[in-house]
Amino acid sequence: MKSIKQHCSFCGRPEQQVGMLLSGMEALICDDCVERAYEMVSESSSNSRRRTNNADFSIPQKELPRPKDVKAFLDLYVIGQDAAKRYLSVSVYNHYKRLMQQKTNDEVEIEKSNIIMVGSTGTGKTLLAKTIARLLKVPFTIVDATVLTEAGYVGEDIESLLTRLLQVADYKVEEAEKGIVFIDEIDKIARKGDNPSITRDVSGEGVQQGLLKLLEGSIVNVPPQGGRKHPDQKMIQVNTKDILFICGGAFDGIEKKIAQRLNTQVVGYTASSSNQAIDRNNLLQYIAPQDLKAFGLIPEIIGRLPILTYLQPLDRVALRKILTEPKNSIIKQYIKIFEMDGVQLQFDEEVLEYIVDKAIEFKLGARGLRSITEDIMIDAMYEIPSSQINELRITLDYAKERIEKIEYRA
Ligand code: ADP
Repeated sequence: MKSIKQHCSFCGRPEQQVGMLLSGMEALICDDCVERAYEMVSESSSNSRRRTNNADFSIPQKELPRPKDVKAFLDLYVIGQDAAKRYLSVSVYNHYKRLMQQKTNDEVEIEKSNIIMVGSTGTGKTLLAKTIARLLKVPFTIVDATVLTEAGYVGEDIESLLTRLLQVADYKVEEAEKGIVFIDEIDKIARKGDNPSITRDVSGEGVQQGLLKLLEGSIVNVPPQGGRKHPDQKMIQVNTKDILFICGGAFDGIEKKIAQRLNTQVVGYTASSSNQAIDRNNLLQYIAPQDLKAFGLIPEIIGRLPILTYLQPLDRVALRKILTEPKNSIIKQYIKIFEMDGVQLQFDEEVLEYIVDKAIEFKLGARGLRSITEDIMIDAMYEIPSSQINELRITLDYAKERIEKIEYRA
């Protein structure tokens, strides 16, 4: 029995070689196999759903992922961002509890806690949302706020945000009504400036008012195919009362608003000691709802997004970790690509440092890591499959030469 305890019963790998080992009645399964099994099951069930139109998003009562489990799962894919991970984990867990509690007719009603995540572009907001989606047992979708406009303008109606959710739930309204929607780039619908403008701005307050309706919970008419509504289209009614909304945005320049608020506080009434404690290099950690208002979100929207969290800017150390540590890290992906051609790929440590340096130099953050690595590897990926080589070591000189060639060309 002892050996079963320490190995995945499916792939046989020992505990030390896997991220997580989950135990069942008489067997163990590693996170990789869970994922693979999940993919296989969802693929076959989405095929059969297409045939039977029978989506299943039932909540596993006994196996609710606890906040710590959710966070441990996020840790496998996302580096750092502990604050955001904790908020997300708790929020998702409470969302499940809320859905379950409705069956018990209890008098205490748990209110839903929509979330807003603030953090520069490329710090992992979408990655967090996507990773959460892998774990979830409710319909989940990512939508972009930039396509939205007020009714009557060119663009998409606000209700179309829910079209994707309906599609994911195979148009089963009841399932979609328990789902989670990640709205990206929420900052793009902020009012420009703190003063309401006299002219209606297409991507401003009107859109926020529309969004408010969705956030606070109401019955809305959703165009089944998305886009613009038109008169003879049959609408699907969806109640948004139980849909959890997670919003994300870069809120460029919000640090200034935070700094202003912190300064006035210090001058105003706070003791001088708090002034010393302020870390001026990372003001986002002090973000408060009033900063979102100063940025141009209407107070009603802010009130409907009670959980406010932030993402840290990614420093050198974090970027270096992102290259190799996540379960599907960039470097692991390249190794895999070559492995499929029977080539053993290896990167010198200095190359990894160099990639990080270049990402910082080009001010590309985590997004840059991939394109820089791609630039280094493109020639090898072209040549090697037709060669006899079965081992490839990427040295600093090789990497530099590739990048300099491209920089020179540009
Ligand atoms: P955002 O939504 O904040 O603009 P993304 O989540 O789309 O940023 O991140 C862009 C890419 O950068 C991701 O695909 C991922 O490869 C990488 N990345 C960003 N932040 C992290 C992180 N904290 N951990 C691991 N990878 C990250």
